[in-house]
Amino acid sequence: MPDEKQLKARIKKVNIKKIKNVLETLDGARIKTWLNICAKCGLCAESCFFYLANDKNPEFSPAYKIKSTVGEMYKKKGDVSLPFLEASMEALWARCTMCKRCSQFCPFGIDIAAMITIGRSVCQSHGFVPEFLAKAVENYRVSGNQMALTKDDFIETCEWMEEETADEIKGLTIPMDVPEVKFMYTLNAREPMYYPQDIAQIAQILTVAEESWTMPSEGWECTNLPMFAGDRTLAGIIVENMYQKARDLKVDKILVTECGHAYRSTKYEGPYLSGYPDGIPPIEIIHSVELFCEYLESGRIKIDPSKKLKEPVTYQDPCNVSRNGGLWDIGRIVMGYLADDFREMSPNKDYNHCCGGGGGYIPMGPEYRVKRMVSGKIKAEQIRKTGAKLVIVPCHNCFDQINDLNEEYDLGIKSVSIKEVLCEIMMIPDKFKPDEE
Ligand code: SF4
Ligand code: SF4
Repeated sequence: MPDEKQLKARIKKVNIKKIKNVLETLDGARIKTWLNICAKCGLCAESCFFYLANDKNPEFSPAYKIKSTVGEMYKKKGDVSLPFLEASMEALWARCTMCKRCSQFCPFGIDIAAMITIGRSVCQSHGFVPEFLAKAVENYRVSGNQMALTKDDFIETCEWMEEETADEIKGLTIPMDVPEVKFMYTLNAREPMYYPQDIAQIAQILTVAEESWTMPSEGWECTNLPMFAGDRTLAGIIVENMYQKARDLKVDKILVTECGHAYRSTKYEGPYLSGYPDGIPPIEIIHSVELFCEYLESGRIKIDPSKKLKEPVTYQDPCNVSRNGGLWDIGRIVMGYLADDFREMSPNKDYNHCCGGGGGYIPMGPEYRVKRMVSGKIKAEQIRKTGAKLVIVPCHNCFDQINDLNEEYDLGIKSVSIKEVLCEIMMIPDKFKPDEE
């Protein structure tokens, strides 16, 4: 149930002008064309894991989800009711992760996820956003990150991880706000909050690779939840804060942690959201998977052959790293270095299914957990069929969802990031080995 603050944020009377404004300004002409040309052929239905996992209920088919929400908004020129907006909120957030798989199967290339974005913005304009997600967005407003961490909290966490890890890798530091280096590292706020070891791991890898890098004290949050909550103004501010920090530090590139949402936001949607009409970020963006691949291929990071993974391993293609980020082959090259027994899911690469936790679903919290587990059934089946014991997951969101699926469906697997595996099996050159006591 929404809390008092959230209910207050909900507009008591529909503002038709406001809705029309969202519908017209956000790519209105293209959306209207898509709505008109949809032949209702249903070819997109079987591509959507929500439809498959929910007994092929037609209400979960991509075309229906759009027709019953955004389609109605346009048809009625914004003159919709509050109960309609509340019902749309359910369809737009709890039945779609904006994974874009359905667009690959539509003969007209209709971009369902782009239309879901518009629908979410309309709902958000009237305060209809799932409660937990709305709270996370509020956190961004006050602190610039979804976990409401202060600048001091963040710096202290980095210092703590530096202290903890300096014993393992001689000379390891987590440099803060160092100007004119190659990379500014950006991360998901869940890392300093729940998984601080991720910060230690990236510091180990970048130290061993002798990289020129810095952690920024601000503008470090790259997972842009306002983007998935329909709050495009705030989403633009968040991403611009990051670009600005990179410009202030005069770094060459922004390096994005193992996170799909972050990559989509920072590289592909962020520029439009923050006012770069050509869609090109003002600074080059690199995903961690790309950098790890470069290190392995160039030999800057070497794998200890005796530690290479022997158990069966599979790879989760995060939608926003593989299908929407184009990095599926890079992920396979990395797997070749890490694992002897690599097993593909089916389907895979750009056709892989969403894990069911994307598009803001995980931050929608416990209220939506049961639905999230039902829709995650397709991913659970994919994983089980591989026989893998280890699932390598270069995305925080997928990582959390696959952990939950492991419990729910008793998969008997462990999910790990590429960082974690690299830290376990990379060779540590002598100069980085701690001195003997
Ligand atoms: S974008 Fe993904 S989740 Fe949404 S309707 Fe299409 S296939 Fe389903
Ligand atoms: S495949 Fe395309 S044209 Fe056919 S129902 Fe789906 S969105 Fe409409």
